[in-house]
Amino acid sequence: MLVDEIVDQGEVVRIRARTRSRWMACPDCGRRTRRAHAYHVRRLADLPIGGRGVVLELRVRRLACRNSACARRTFREQVPRLAARWARRTLRSTSLIAGIGVSVAGRAGAALLSRFGTRVSRSTVLRQADQTPEPGDPLQAAFDDVPIPAEPGRWGACRGARGDR
Ligand SMILES: [Zn+2]
Repeated sequence: MLVDEIVDQGEVVRIRARTRSRWMACPDCGRRTRRAHAYHVRRLADLPIGGRGVVLELRVRRLACRNSACARRTFREQVPRLAARWARRTLRSTSLIAGIGVSVAGRAGAALLSRFGTRVSRSTVLRQADQTPEPGDPLQAAFDDVPIPAEPGRWGACRGARGDR
């Protein structure tokens, strides 16, 4: 990831960044490409800095598959170490909310997070805590790959957009 700009907006710090021009494999045929067809900006809530919220505005590529026999023309670049496919916050931010939620549920958890610059609803805190596997759970290893909707009802939107990856 390359950081282009950091914008201080008072309560929020915006980090504008882009992915490096790496080779990516087509999800259908597996052929590698790095030919950008278009660009999108993903906005991801990230860990706070100095008590202020951080929004990562990451420019990702829509890549063109170069395999003429492949039905997929383009696909969206994923950043699995940073955020789940449909998530609107980074994995580390989700992990922070889930960790607080397991210890301090609901409204108290949301209030505690807010003091450190992460503003979320109590239902988000409860949901993230519910989705956190117990330590030693075999699902723990797969946790990073689970897409976590940012808001209630996001699953519907995710399903609708799945063909547009
Ligand atoms: Zn392909």
